[in-house]
Amino acid sequence: MEKKAESGQLLVLVPCPYQGHINPMLKLGNFLHSKGFSIAIVHTHFNSPNPSNHPEFTFFPIPDGLTADEISSGNAVTIVLAINANCKASFEQCLTDRVTEQELQNKITCIIYDEFMYFSESVANDLNIPSILLRTQSATNFIARNAMIRLHSKGCTPFPDSMLLNSVPELHPLRFKDLPIYIFGPLENYSKLLTNANNVRTSSAIIWNTLDCLDQSSLAQIKQQCQVPIFSIGPLHKFATAATSSLLEEDTGCVAWLDKQSHNSVIYVSLGSLASISEKELAEMAWGLAISRQPFLWVIRPGSICSSDWIELLPQGFLEAVGERGCIVKWAPQMEVLSHDAVGGFWSHCGWNSTLESITEGVPMLCRPCFSDQTVNARYVSQVWKIGIQLENELERGEIERTVKKLMVDEEGKGMRVRAKELKEKIEVIMKGGSTYHSLNELVEFIRSF
Ligand code: UDP
Repeated sequence: MEKKAESGQLLVLVPCPYQGHINPMLKLGNFLHSKGFSIAIVHTHFNSPNPSNHPEFTFFPIPDGLTADEISSGNAVTIVLAINANCKASFEQCLTDRVTEQELQNKITCIIYDEFMYFSESVANDLNIPSILLRTQSATNFIARNAMIRLHSKGCTPFPDSMLLNSVPELHPLRFKDLPIYIFGPLENYSKLLTNANNVRTSSAIIWNTLDCLDQSSLAQIKQQCQVPIFSIGPLHKFATAATSSLLEEDTGCVAWLDKQSHNSVIYVSLGSLASISEKELAEMAWGLAISRQPFLWVIRPGSICSSDWIELLPQGFLEAVGERGCIVKWAPQMEVLSHDAVGGFWSHCGWNSTLESITEGVPMLCRPCFSDQTVNARYVSQVWKIGIQLENELERGEIERTVKKLMVDEEGKGMRVRAKELKEKIEVIMKGGSTYHSLNELVEFIRSF
Protein backbone atom coordinates (compact mmCIF):
# COMPACT_ATOMS: atom_id res chain seq x y z
CA MET A 1 0.00 0.00 0.00
CA GLU A 2 1.22 3.46 -0.82
CA LYS A 3 2.66 5.38 2.09
CA LYS A 4 0.52 8.41 2.95
CA ALA A 5 1.86 11.64 4.40
CA GLU A 6 1.99 11.67 8.17
CA SER A 7 -1.28 12.93 9.53
CA GLY A 8 -0.87 16.55 10.53
CA GLN A 9 1.15 17.54 7.44
CA LEU A 10 -0.50 20.67 6.14
CA LEU A 11 0.62 22.44 2.98
CA VAL A 12 -0.33 26.07 2.39
CA LEU A 13 -0.65 26.89 -1.30
CA VAL A 14 -0.62 30.49 -2.55
CA PRO A 15 -1.79 30.81 -6.17
CA CYS A 16 -1.34 33.97 -8.23
CA PRO A 17 -4.90 35.17 -8.94
CA TYR A 18 -5.02 34.57 -12.69
CA GLN A 19 -6.52 31.58 -14.46
CA GLY A 20 -3.27 30.36 -15.98
CA HIS A 21 -1.73 30.28 -12.49
CA ILE A 22 -4.70 29.13 -10.41
CA ASN A 23 -5.20 26.03 -12.58
CA PRO A 24 -1.74 24.46 -12.16
CA MET A 25 -1.54 25.39 -8.46
CA LEU A 26 -4.88 23.74 -7.66
CA LYS A 27 -3.94 20.70 -9.75
CA LEU A 28 -0.74 20.48 -7.73
CA GLY A 29 -2.94 20.66 -4.62
CA ASN A 30 -5.07 17.78 -5.95
CA PHE A 31 -1.98 15.69 -6.52
CA LEU A 32 -0.47 16.37 -3.09
CA HIS A 33 -3.84 15.79 -1.43
CA SER A 34 -3.97 12.37 -3.12
CA LYS A 35 -0.65 11.65 -1.38
CA GLY A 36 -2.18 12.32 2.03
CA PHE A 37 -1.32 15.97 2.67
CA SER A 38 -3.93 18.41 3.97
CA ILE A 39 -4.19 21.42 1.70
CA ALA A 40 -5.01 25.01 2.62
CA ILE A 41 -5.37 27.53 -0.20
CA VAL A 42 -4.63 31.12 0.77
CA HIS A 43 -5.90 33.45 -1.93
CA THR A 44 -6.64 37.11 -2.61
CA HIS A 45 -10.19 38.44 -2.71
CA PHE A 46 -9.42 39.49 -6.27
CA ASN A 47 -10.21 36.60 -8.67
CA SER A 48 -10.85 34.24 -5.81
CA PRO A 49 -11.33 30.56 -6.73
CA ASN A 50 -14.66 28.90 -5.95
CA PRO A 51 -14.23 26.77 -2.78
CA SER A 52 -17.35 24.71 -3.53
CA ASN A 53 -15.54 23.12 -6.51
CA HIS A 54 -12.83 21.83 -4.15
CA PRO A 55 -14.34 20.46 -0.95
CA GLU A 56 -11.06 18.61 -0.29
CA PHE A 57 -9.21 21.90 0.37
CA THR A 58 -9.68 24.59 3.01
CA PHE A 59 -9.79 28.10 1.57
CA PHE A 60 -8.58 31.24 3.34
CA PRO A 61 -9.19 34.57 1.58
CA ILE A 62 -6.88 37.46 2.46
CA PRO A 63 -7.48 41.16 1.82
CA ASP A 64 -5.33 42.28 -1.11
CA GLY A 65 -5.59 46.06 -0.74
CA LEU A 66 -6.20 46.54 -4.47
CA THR A 67 -7.88 49.79 -5.41
CA ALA A 68 -10.88 49.94 -7.75
CA ASP A 69 -8.66 51.76 -10.25
CA GLU A 70 -6.01 49.04 -10.17
CA ILE A 71 -8.62 46.35 -10.70
CA SER A 72 -10.41 48.18 -13.49
CA SER A 73 -7.08 48.89 -15.23
CA GLY A 74 -6.95 45.19 -16.06
CA ASN A 75 -3.15 45.53 -16.00
CA ALA A 76 -1.92 42.22 -14.60
CA VAL A 77 1.60 43.50 -13.94
CA THR A 78 0.39 46.51 -11.93
CA ILE A 79 -2.04 44.30 -10.01
CA VAL A 80 0.50 41.62 -9.13
CA LEU A 81 3.10 44.20 -8.06
CA ALA A 82 0.44 45.80 -5.82
CA ILE A 83 -0.55 42.43 -4.33
CA ASN A 84 3.07 41.78 -3.40
CA ALA A 85 3.38 45.22 -1.85
CA ASN A 86 0.12 44.84 0.10
CA CYS A 87 -0.28 41.24 1.21
CA LYS A 88 2.61 40.38 3.49
CA ALA A 89 0.93 41.42 6.75
CA SER A 90 -2.48 39.94 5.87
CA PHE A 91 -0.89 36.64 4.84
CA GLU A 92 1.16 36.43 8.02
CA GLN A 93 -1.88 37.18 10.13
CA CYS A 94 -3.92 34.62 8.23
CA LEU A 95 -1.32 31.92 8.97
CA THR A 96 -0.76 32.76 12.60
CA ASP A 97 -4.44 33.27 13.48
CA ARG A 98 -6.95 31.68 11.15
CA VAL A 99 -5.06 28.75 9.65
CA THR A 100 -3.59 27.72 12.99
CA GLU A 101 -6.96 28.02 14.71
CA GLN A 102 -8.89 26.05 12.11
CA GLU A 103 -6.23 23.42 11.53
CA LEU A 104 -5.51 22.58 15.16
CA GLN A 105 -4.45 19.05 14.29
CA ASN A 106 -2.22 20.17 11.46
CA LYS A 107 1.15 21.83 11.59
CA ILE A 108 2.14 23.85 8.51
CA THR A 109 4.79 21.70 6.86
CA CYS A 110 5.51 23.95 3.93
CA ILE A 111 4.26 26.95 1.95
CA ILE A 112 4.13 26.44 -1.81
CA TYR A 113 3.72 29.75 -3.62
CA ASP A 114 3.45 30.89 -7.21
CA GLU A 115 6.67 32.59 -8.31
CA PHE A 116 4.68 35.83 -8.76
CA MET A 117 3.44 35.74 -5.14
CA TYR A 118 6.92 36.23 -3.72
CA PHE A 119 5.67 38.09 -0.63
CA SER A 120 4.83 34.56 0.64
CA GLU A 121 8.49 33.65 0.90
CA SER A 122 9.29 36.46 3.30
CA VAL A 123 6.37 35.43 5.53
CA ALA A 124 7.55 31.81 5.44
CA ASN A 125 10.99 33.01 6.40
CA ASP A 126 9.68 35.15 9.31
CA LEU A 127 7.65 32.22 10.63
CA ASN A 128 10.42 29.70 10.07
CA ILE A 129 8.33 27.57 7.72
CA PRO A 130 10.00 25.96 4.68
CA SER A 131 8.84 27.28 1.32
CA ILE A 132 8.87 26.02 -2.26
CA LEU A 133 8.13 28.08 -5.33
CA LEU A 134 6.04 26.97 -8.28
CA ARG A 135 6.90 28.17 -11.76
CA THR A 136 3.94 27.79 -14.11
CA GLN A 137 5.65 28.76 -17.38
CA SER A 138 8.23 26.86 -19.41
CA ALA A 139 11.92 26.66 -18.53
CA THR A 140 12.79 28.01 -21.98
CA ASN A 141 10.64 31.02 -21.27
CA PHE A 142 12.54 31.51 -18.01
CA ILE A 143 15.79 31.74 -19.95
CA ALA A 144 14.21 33.99 -22.58
CA ARG A 145 12.80 36.38 -19.99
CA ASN A 146 16.21 36.62 -18.32
CA ALA A 147 17.68 37.59 -21.68
CA MET A 148 14.95 40.22 -22.01
CA ILE A 149 15.70 41.61 -18.52
CA ARG A 150 19.42 41.81 -19.35
CA LEU A 151 18.78 43.58 -22.63
CA HIS A 152 16.36 45.96 -20.97
CA SER A 153 18.84 46.83 -18.23
CA LYS A 154 21.45 47.59 -20.92
CA GLY A 155 19.01 50.02 -22.54
CA CYS A 156 18.45 47.87 -25.65
CA THR A 157 14.64 47.88 -25.42
CA PRO A 158 12.37 48.50 -27.20
CA PHE A 159 14.13 46.60 -29.98
CA PRO A 160 14.36 48.51 -33.28
CA ASP A 161 12.28 47.04 -36.14
CA SER A 162 15.49 46.16 -37.97
CA MET A 163 16.41 43.73 -35.18
CA LEU A 164 13.11 41.97 -34.62
CA LEU A 165 13.66 39.08 -37.03
CA ASN A 166 17.28 38.48 -35.99
CA SER A 167 18.04 35.45 -33.84
CA VAL A 168 18.87 36.09 -30.20
CA PRO A 169 22.44 34.80 -29.71
CA GLU A 170 22.42 31.40 -27.94
CA LEU A 171 18.63 31.23 -27.90
CA HIS A 172 17.99 29.70 -31.31
CA PRO A 173 15.28 29.58 -32.72
CA LEU A 174 14.05 32.59 -30.75
CA ARG A 175 14.18 35.96 -32.49
CA PHE A 176 14.16 39.31 -30.73
CA LYS A 177 10.45 39.61 -31.54
CA ASP A 178 9.84 36.35 -29.62
CA LEU A 179 11.32 37.54 -26.32
CA PRO A 180 8.60 37.88 -23.67
CA ILE A 181 7.29 41.38 -23.12
CA TYR A 182 4.12 42.82 -21.64
CA ILE A 183 2.42 45.21 -24.01
CA PHE A 184 0.30 47.10 -21.50
CA GLY A 185 2.34 49.59 -19.52
CA PRO A 186 6.06 50.21 -19.12
CA LEU A 187 8.53 47.40 -19.65
CA GLU A 188 10.23 48.67 -16.50
CA ASN A 189 7.38 47.28 -14.33
CA TYR A 190 7.34 43.94 -16.12
CA SER A 191 11.08 43.66 -15.77
CA LYS A 192 10.82 44.43 -12.03
CA LEU A 193 8.14 41.78 -11.56
CA LEU A 194 10.17 39.15 -13.42
CA THR A 195 13.33 40.01 -11.50
CA ASN A 196 11.46 39.50 -8.22
CA ALA A 197 9.92 36.26 -9.47
CA ASN A 198 13.31 34.95 -10.56
CA ASN A 199 14.77 35.31 -7.09
CA VAL A 200 14.61 32.00 -5.20
CA ARG A 201 15.52 33.74 -1.92
CA THR A 202 15.43 31.21 0.93
CA SER A 203 13.04 28.76 -0.73
CA SER A 204 14.06 25.14 -0.49
CA ALA A 205 13.12 23.99 -3.99
CA ILE A 206 11.40 24.85 -7.25
CA ILE A 207 8.46 22.98 -8.71
CA TRP A 208 8.17 23.45 -12.45
CA ASN A 209 5.09 22.71 -14.52
CA THR A 210 7.10 21.44 -17.45
CA LEU A 211 8.77 18.25 -18.55
CA ASP A 212 12.11 17.17 -19.91
CA CYS A 213 10.96 16.13 -23.34
CA LEU A 214 9.71 19.67 -24.12
CA ASP A 215 12.22 21.74 -22.21
CA GLN A 216 15.29 19.53 -21.84
CA SER A 217 18.23 21.78 -22.64
CA SER A 218 16.74 24.78 -20.83
CA LEU A 219 16.00 22.69 -17.75
CA ALA A 220 19.49 21.20 -17.79
CA GLN A 221 21.03 24.66 -18.03
CA ILE A 222 18.90 26.00 -15.17
CA LYS A 223 19.54 22.94 -12.97
CA GLN A 224 23.26 23.42 -13.43
CA GLN A 225 23.11 26.98 -12.13
CA CYS A 226 20.48 26.53 -9.45
CA GLN A 227 21.37 25.95 -5.79
CA VAL A 228 18.15 24.14 -4.85
CA PRO A 229 16.43 21.02 -6.23
CA ILE A 230 14.12 21.45 -9.22
CA PHE A 231 11.16 19.11 -9.65
CA SER A 232 9.85 19.24 -13.22
CA ILE A 233 6.51 17.55 -12.74
CA GLY A 234 4.40 18.73 -15.69
CA PRO A 235 1.96 18.50 -17.22
CA LEU A 236 0.10 19.04 -13.95
CA HIS A 237 -3.37 19.08 -15.50
CA LYS A 238 -3.00 15.40 -16.36
CA PHE A 239 -2.54 14.18 -12.79
CA ALA A 240 -5.58 15.59 -11.18
CA THR A 241 -9.31 15.28 -10.72
CA ALA A 242 -11.76 16.72 -13.19
CA ALA A 243 -12.83 19.47 -10.75
CA THR A 244 -12.81 22.82 -12.47
CA SER A 245 -10.95 25.84 -11.16
CA SER A 246 -12.41 28.18 -13.79
CA LEU A 247 -13.10 31.73 -12.66
CA LEU A 248 -15.79 32.01 -15.36
CA GLU A 249 -18.66 29.61 -15.74
CA GLU A 250 -17.91 26.90 -18.30
CA ASP A 251 -20.49 26.55 -21.04
CA THR A 252 -20.77 22.78 -21.36
CA GLY A 253 -23.41 23.13 -24.09
CA CYS A 254 -20.59 23.32 -26.63
CA VAL A 255 -19.79 19.64 -25.99
CA ALA A 256 -23.24 18.67 -27.35
CA TRP A 257 -22.45 20.78 -30.43
CA LEU A 258 -19.06 19.04 -30.78
CA ASP A 259 -20.82 15.65 -30.56
CA LYS A 260 -22.56 16.49 -33.85
CA GLN A 261 -19.35 17.29 -35.75
CA SER A 262 -17.18 14.84 -37.61
CA HIS A 263 -13.78 13.51 -36.54
CA ASN A 264 -10.95 16.12 -36.48
CA SER A 265 -13.10 18.66 -38.34
CA VAL A 266 -13.43 21.43 -35.74
CA ILE A 267 -10.96 24.19 -35.08
CA TYR A 268 -11.19 25.32 -31.45
CA VAL A 269 -10.39 29.03 -31.03
CA SER A 270 -9.46 30.55 -27.68
CA LEU A 271 -7.08 33.30 -26.66
CA GLY A 272 -7.05 32.37 -22.96
CA SER A 273 -8.00 34.46 -19.97
CA LEU A 274 -6.12 37.72 -20.56
CA ALA A 275 -5.43 38.43 -24.23
CA SER A 276 -7.73 40.79 -26.09
CA ILE A 277 -8.27 41.83 -29.71
CA SER A 278 -9.42 44.97 -31.52
CA GLU A 279 -12.67 45.29 -33.46
CA LYS A 280 -10.70 45.14 -36.71
CA GLU A 281 -8.93 41.91 -35.69
CA LEU A 282 -12.28 40.48 -34.65
CA ALA A 283 -13.72 41.14 -38.10
CA GLU A 284 -10.73 39.51 -39.84
CA MET A 285 -10.89 36.48 -37.53
CA ALA A 286 -14.63 36.13 -38.06
CA TRP A 287 -14.51 36.34 -41.85
CA GLY A 288 -11.37 34.22 -42.03
CA LEU A 289 -13.15 31.47 -40.12
CA ALA A 290 -16.29 31.90 -42.20
CA ILE A 291 -14.56 31.59 -45.57
CA SER A 292 -12.39 28.67 -44.42
CA ARG A 293 -15.68 26.70 -44.29
CA GLN A 294 -14.27 24.71 -41.39
CA PRO A 295 -16.53 24.15 -38.35
CA PHE A 296 -15.30 26.18 -35.37
CA LEU A 297 -15.85 26.47 -31.65
CA TRP A 298 -14.88 29.99 -30.63
CA VAL A 299 -14.42 31.21 -27.06
CA ILE A 300 -15.08 34.93 -26.92
CA ARG A 301 -14.48 35.90 -23.32
CA PRO A 302 -16.63 38.82 -22.11
CA GLY A 303 -14.48 41.96 -22.38
CA SER A 304 -11.88 40.35 -24.64
CA ILE A 305 -12.90 42.50 -27.60
CA CYS A 306 -11.78 46.05 -26.94
CA SER A 307 -14.65 48.48 -26.28
CA SER A 308 -17.36 45.86 -26.08
CA ASP A 309 -19.03 43.63 -23.51
CA TRP A 310 -19.22 40.49 -25.58
CA ILE A 311 -20.05 39.79 -29.25
CA GLU A 312 -21.89 43.00 -30.17
CA LEU A 313 -19.03 43.99 -32.51
CA LEU A 314 -19.09 40.81 -34.60
CA PRO A 315 -19.46 41.94 -38.23
CA GLN A 316 -22.97 42.15 -39.61
CA GLY A 317 -24.06 39.06 -41.49
CA PHE A 318 -21.36 36.85 -39.94
CA LEU A 319 -23.61 34.77 -37.65
CA GLU A 320 -26.10 34.21 -40.50
CA ALA A 321 -23.25 33.26 -42.85
CA VAL A 322 -21.85 30.55 -40.59
CA GLY A 323 -25.12 29.27 -39.07
CA GLU A 324 -24.72 25.88 -37.36
CA ARG A 325 -21.13 25.60 -38.57
CA GLY A 326 -19.96 27.84 -35.73
CA CYS A 327 -20.46 27.73 -32.00
CA ILE A 328 -19.52 30.72 -29.83
CA VAL A 329 -19.28 30.53 -26.04
CA LYS A 330 -18.05 32.82 -23.27
CA TRP A 331 -15.86 30.16 -21.64
CA ALA A 332 -15.38 26.50 -22.52
CA PRO A 333 -14.43 23.39 -20.55
CA GLN A 334 -11.14 23.52 -22.44
CA MET A 335 -9.66 20.18 -21.46
CA GLU A 336 -12.85 18.35 -22.37
CA VAL A 337 -12.96 20.25 -25.66
CA LEU A 338 -9.36 19.44 -26.58
CA SER A 339 -9.87 15.76 -25.82
CA HIS A 340 -13.01 15.62 -27.98
CA ASP A 341 -12.75 13.48 -31.08
CA ALA A 342 -14.21 16.25 -33.29
CA VAL A 343 -11.47 18.77 -32.45
CA GLY A 344 -8.67 18.69 -35.01
CA GLY A 345 -6.90 21.97 -34.37
CA PHE A 346 -6.47 24.68 -31.75
CA TRP A 347 -6.14 28.37 -32.67
CA SER A 348 -4.45 29.53 -29.49
CA HIS A 349 -2.65 32.50 -27.96
CA CYS A 350 -0.18 29.86 -26.72
CA GLY A 351 -0.33 30.43 -22.97
CA TRP A 352 1.73 27.66 -21.37
CA ASN A 353 -1.29 25.82 -19.95
CA SER A 354 -3.12 25.87 -23.27
CA THR A 355 0.04 24.73 -25.03
CA LEU A 356 0.51 21.81 -22.64
CA GLU A 357 -3.18 20.92 -22.82
CA SER A 358 -3.09 20.86 -26.61
CA ILE A 359 0.13 18.84 -26.76
CA THR A 360 -1.13 16.23 -24.30
CA GLU A 361 -4.24 15.72 -26.44
CA GLY A 362 -2.23 15.52 -29.65
CA VAL A 363 -3.98 18.56 -31.16
CA PRO A 364 -1.90 20.66 -33.61
CA MET A 365 -2.02 24.43 -33.18
CA LEU A 366 -2.51 27.64 -35.04
CA CYS A 367 -0.47 30.07 -32.95
CA ARG A 368 -1.36 33.70 -32.45
CA PRO A 369 0.67 34.88 -29.45
CA CYS A 370 0.00 38.27 -27.87
CA PHE A 371 2.47 38.89 -25.03
CA SER A 372 4.46 37.43 -22.13
CA ASP A 373 5.60 33.81 -22.60
CA GLN A 374 3.14 33.23 -25.47
CA THR A 375 5.65 34.37 -28.11
CA VAL A 376 8.26 31.90 -26.86
CA ASN A 377 5.77 29.02 -26.72
CA ALA A 378 4.44 29.79 -30.22
CA ARG A 379 7.96 29.69 -31.64
CA TYR A 380 8.62 26.32 -30.02
CA VAL A 381 5.29 24.90 -31.22
CA SER A 382 6.01 25.90 -34.81
CA GLN A 383 9.80 25.61 -35.09
CA VAL A 384 10.97 23.05 -32.53
CA TRP A 385 8.17 20.56 -31.98
CA LYS A 386 6.74 21.33 -35.45
CA ILE A 387 3.18 20.78 -34.37
CA GLY A 388 1.73 24.10 -35.42
CA ILE A 389 1.81 27.16 -37.64
CA GLN A 390 2.29 30.69 -36.40
CA LEU A 391 0.18 33.53 -37.80
CA GLU A 392 2.82 36.27 -37.77
CA ASN A 393 1.43 39.21 -39.70
CA GLU A 394 -1.44 41.54 -39.06
CA LEU A 395 -4.61 39.45 -39.05
CA GLU A 396 -6.10 39.28 -42.55
CA ARG A 397 -9.04 37.10 -43.54
CA GLY A 398 -7.44 35.58 -46.66
CA GLU A 399 -4.34 34.53 -44.77
CA ILE A 400 -6.47 33.18 -41.94
CA GLU A 401 -8.52 31.13 -44.40
CA ARG A 402 -5.37 29.65 -45.97
CA THR A 403 -3.73 28.94 -42.61
CA VAL A 404 -6.83 27.28 -41.15
CA LYS A 405 -7.06 25.03 -44.22
CA LYS A 406 -3.35 24.28 -44.07
CA LEU A 407 -3.70 23.15 -40.46
CA MET A 408 -7.00 21.30 -40.77
CA VAL A 409 -6.96 19.66 -44.22
CA ASP A 410 -3.69 20.05 -46.12
CA GLU A 411 -0.79 17.59 -46.12
CA GLU A 412 1.31 20.03 -44.06
CA GLY A 413 -1.31 19.96 -41.30
CA LYS A 414 -1.55 16.18 -41.46
CA GLY A 415 2.18 15.97 -40.76
CA MET A 416 1.74 18.24 -37.75
CA ARG A 417 -1.12 16.09 -36.48
CA VAL A 418 1.06 12.97 -36.74
CA ARG A 419 3.87 14.65 -34.81
CA ALA A 420 1.41 15.98 -32.22
CA LYS A 421 0.06 12.46 -31.65
CA GLU A 422 3.60 11.11 -31.34
CA LEU A 423 4.43 13.76 -28.76
CA LYS A 424 1.25 12.99 -26.84
CA GLU A 425 2.18 9.29 -26.71
CA LYS A 426 5.73 10.07 -25.64
CA ILE A 427 4.42 12.21 -22.79
CA GLU A 428 2.04 9.46 -21.67
CA VAL A 429 5.02 7.15 -21.27
CA ILE A 430 6.98 9.82 -19.38
CA MET A 431 4.07 10.29 -17.00
CA LYS A 432 3.71 6.58 -16.32
CA GLY A 433 7.36 5.82 -15.61
CA GLY A 434 9.66 8.55 -16.95
CA SER A 435 11.04 11.83 -15.67
CA THR A 436 7.73 13.33 -14.56
CA TYR A 437 6.78 10.20 -12.65
CA HIS A 438 10.13 10.15 -10.83
CA SER A 439 10.08 13.89 -10.12
CA LEU A 440 6.63 13.63 -8.57
CA ASN A 441 7.75 10.84 -6.24
CA GLU A 442 10.90 12.76 -5.33
CA LEU A 443 8.87 15.88 -4.61
CA VAL A 444 6.55 14.00 -2.24
CA GLU A 445 9.52 12.51 -0.38
CA PHE A 446 11.21 15.91 -0.25
CA ILE A 447 8.16 17.54 1.35
CA ARG A 448 7.70 14.65 3.79
CA SER A 449 11.27 15.14 4.94
CA PHE A 450 10.57 18.64 6.35
N1 UDP B 1 -9.43 27.91 -20.27
C1 UDP B 1 -10.64 27.32 -20.06
N2 UDP B 1 -11.68 27.67 -20.86
C2 UDP B 1 -11.56 28.59 -21.86
C3 UDP B 1 -10.30 29.18 -22.09
C4 UDP B 1 -9.24 28.80 -21.27
O1 UDP B 1 -10.80 26.47 -19.16
O2 UDP B 1 -12.56 28.86 -22.53
C5 UDP B 1 -8.30 27.53 -19.39
C6 UDP B 1 -7.28 26.71 -20.12
O3 UDP B 1 -7.63 25.34 -20.07
C7 UDP B 1 -5.99 27.04 -19.38
C8 UDP B 1 -6.23 28.43 -18.80
O4 UDP B 1 -7.63 28.68 -18.93
O5 UDP B 1 -5.78 26.10 -18.34
C9 UDP B 1 -5.50 29.51 -19.53
O6 UDP B 1 -4.15 29.46 -19.20
P1 UDP B 1 -3.02 29.76 -20.27
O7 UDP B 1 -1.72 29.60 -19.60
O8 UDP B 1 -3.22 28.95 -21.48
O9 UDP B 1 -3.26 31.26 -20.72
P2 UDP B 1 -3.55 32.63 -19.94
O10 UDP B 1 -5.01 32.68 -19.71
O11 UDP B 1 -2.76 32.59 -18.67
O12 UDP B 1 -3.11 33.66 -20.89
